[in-house]
Amino acid sequence: MRAGADDQICRLRKTLVAANRILARLGVLDGYGHVSARHPEQPSAFVISRSLAPELVTEDDLLELDFAGHPLNGDSRPQYLETCIHSEIYAARPDVAGIVHSHALPVVAFSASDVSLRPIHHMSGFLGSGAPVFDSRTQFGDTDLLIRTSAHGAALARALAEASVVLMRGHGFVAAAPSLKLAVFRAVYTVTNAAAQATAVSLGGEVTFLSPKEASLADATNAGTVDKPWALWARHAGVDLA
Ligand SMILES: [Zn+2]
Repeated sequence: MRAGADDQICRLRKTLVAANRILARLGVLDGYGHVSARHPEQPSAFVISRSLAPELVTEDDLLELDFAGHPLNGDSRPQYLETCIHSEIYAARPDVAGIVHSHALPVVAFSASDVSLRPIHHMSGFLGSGAPVFDSRTQFGDTDLLIRTSAHGAALARALAEASVVLMRGHGFVAAAPSLKLAVFRAVYTVTNAAAQATAVSLGGEVTFLSPKEASLADATNAGTVDKPWALWARHAGVDLA
């Protein structure tokens, strides 16, 4: 291991604990859902909690897994049922370093509707021209809707394609980003965008969304500001800044 590698993984583990607490505090994750980060020294591995409610996650709960789900250090504690969400997206998207999977209801509503989730405010520019929707039944028939296998995960990754967010019909969504903090940011604002869009639609008039160019420009601006809300969210979640 190179000099400094210990520092990188130690920092990342602290940031990942903070991400779990923040997402729980903000209601993006409840007793379910999970957040992960690509391993900083081993690109074909990632770090994620053992199967545990996100608000309860500590550094001692973190597992380091390869893309086959094998622990790097022999830690055999139970994993989340849907770790293939993370492994298959990291495998398909070398640009992704952070992933959040949430069951937040404002987004589930859009996953089950033919109304596309589109960026209605500038904090959600990462939604681009609209989030794609993955329907597990199309390829896999009637299931419990969980992403239990690498085949399910790979199909989800194909639906995500080059987007930042993919909705999962009747289930939830995944937010992906080039950093863990930005993945948390995108998950938070996916939920607020869904709530705002539902409100705008309910007003009954015509809704104006960000244009693709506006969305791209807003996304680029916001990506450079993530440390600011992160500091506040971390304080509210009662964790050390990381
Ligand atoms: Zn799920």
